[in-house]
Amino acid sequence: MLSGKTYKTFDTLRIVFRASPVCAFLHMLLSVVHAIMPTAAMALATANFVDTATTILQGERPHDDIYLPLIMLLLVLGIFTTIGSVLQLISARISLSLQRSLKPEIVRINAALDFKHIENAESWELISRVSRDPVKSVMEGFGSMMQFMQIVVCVVSVLTLIASQIWWAALIIIGFSAPMFWLSIRAGKKNYQAGRDAEKFNRRRDYLNDVLTGRDAADERTLFGFSDEINKRWKQQYELGRKLQLKVTLRMFLITKGSSLILALIAMLVALTLISSVVSGDLSAGMFMGIMSAVFGMVQQLGWQMSDSLEKTSKVGEYMKDLTEFVELGRCQGDGGLSPSGNLCEPDTEPIELETLEFRNVSFKYPSGEHLVLDGLSFFLKSGRHYAFVGKNGAGKTTITKLLTGLYTEYEGEIFVNGKELREYPEGTVKAMFSVVYQDFARYYVSLKENIKLGDVAGINTISDFDSKITAASEQAGLEETIAELKDGMDTPLGKIIEDGQDISGGQWQRVAIARSLISRAPVKILDEPTAALDPISESRVYSEFEKLMHGKTTIFISHRLGSTKLADEILVIDDGKIIERGTHEKLMNENGDYAEMFEAQRGWYL
Ligand code: ADP
Repeated sequence: MLSGKTYKTFDTLRIVFRASPVCAFLHMLLSVVHAIMPTAAMALATANFVDTATTILQGERPHDDIYLPLIMLLLVLGIFTTIGSVLQLISARISLSLQRSLKPEIVRINAALDFKHIENAESWELISRVSRDPVKSVMEGFGSMMQFMQIVVCVVSVLTLIASQIWWAALIIIGFSAPMFWLSIRAGKKNYQAGRDAEKFNRRRDYLNDVLTGRDAADERTLFGFSDEINKRWKQQYELGRKLQLKVTLRMFLITKGSSLILALIAMLVALTLISSVVSGDLSAGMFMGIMSAVFGMVQQLGWQMSDSLEKTSKVGEYMKDLTEFVELGRCQGDGGLSPSGNLCEPDTEPIELETLEFRNVSFKYPSGEHLVLDGLSFFLKSGRHYAFVGKNGAGKTTITKLLTGLYTEYEGEIFVNGKELREYPEGTVKAMFSVVYQDFARYYVSLKENIKLGDVAGINTISDFDSKITAASEQAGLEETIAELKDGMDTPLGKIIEDGQDISGGQWQRVAIARSLISRAPVKILDEPTAALDPISESRVYSEFEKLMHGKTTIFISHRLGSTKLADEILVIDDGKIIERGTHEKLMNENGDYAEMFEAQRGWYL
């Protein structure tokens, strides 16, 4: 549905026609009829009714002749209100079709995006702006275009009606309305601009609102009692946003009301010019009344709807600019990075065996960063051994895992897996090579069993005794007690967003994440400080348990706490993106270098 092109507001029409052609066509057709009904059609029906009534009163026609004009009048009114409701119904159907076609398309592009776009604050803002409510934005664009079309139809039909009676009166209206039209466009654009400025404050206000009422900060809120302070800041942001919004609303009110007033004056002018034609008999009294009501109806439309429609059009125009950039992000997947299909592809069903893993002179800088995070890094790892990457926070340890797992591919130097460059492997193979438990591991609000299953998506359909593997992994990860406490055991939904869901503690979630890694058949398991929230002694215990479970497998433990990693077969000390020391705990302690110094400094943590 979306392709690489520059999207404009007009494209919302194209998107809607693709999603639901019949409804879109019906909507357009009925919108035209709906626009003519209260003005031109109503004017003709009124004229017919009044003129017939006059002739009846003058005794020139029988009384019964009034019924047909009356029915016509009621019919116009009836059709107008019915079409209004039908249009609402059609809009709802179009919305549903868009939910089915546009929304999944946006989700697909989103899922296929390079990781660097997700990590980059600017592109992440763009992604969240576009993904938030694409259907609403497209519908708003479609709605404003329909509204604009209705205004044009209404104006043209009224002018045609007037011109058909007295042509010069139509010219007077055009002459006076043109500046109004221009004013409306300006007002719409200015209003949109100011709305965007107010949005800045609203975003900050929403964030503070989350801190004040959200679940994440609930415990700290109670502990630190910062609600009053945050409340003050919230009010400040709210006031700033409100004042800006008020200014906009006031200006908009003055402009629209002012222009309505001028248009009303024009309508009076038309009335004054037409009245002479009524007196001279060139225009019937009924037609005069009809034209006047149509002109007043048109004035209303021009005054309010015009600037509203234009404001929406500018807003949707900005959304379409964002959409263009978003689709472009999805199309130009990075410089050798995973292609969209690559990001979406599943890990291989059968992971390859790992023999060797080598970083050769690898240097890397984040796209948004300025300095080299990895600086000529080289190391060689062998299969079946336990390694620990240690170093201060910010040394570059996590960055190594991001390169290994293919999240970033724009590094200098080479990474070899079994002697072959990592970037030459198919994406599915790379994904199947590593299983990582991250520091900020995910908590999925599905059942405990499903949580663990996600560790080996490929195995769900290919491994016959998958369920017993899940049970084994959960036992190995020490989840037996947790499962016993859960209402429906492993099938209990976790988290509170589901009605029967049960919450588990941070430590229990961590074990779930570890079980997920245990079930994975990836030949290399990485623990990237998932235990950062634990005290050093508990972390050390988790690492040594994991090490025992992973006997004979290749593991990489990452931590800045050395007591947790000292059991590793080999420790690699990383500083400023380079390996500065390497060896067993004993060897490094004997060398009395940086590692020994750090270890001594941390010794107190383990007493
Ligand atoms: P460690 O895991 O050793 O604590 P990281 O590998 O997470 O360190 O980070 C190394 C450096 O890279 C830090 O200086 C950090 O600020 C920077 N960094 C990490 N992620 C990003 C990012 N997405 N964009 C820019 N810089 C980053």
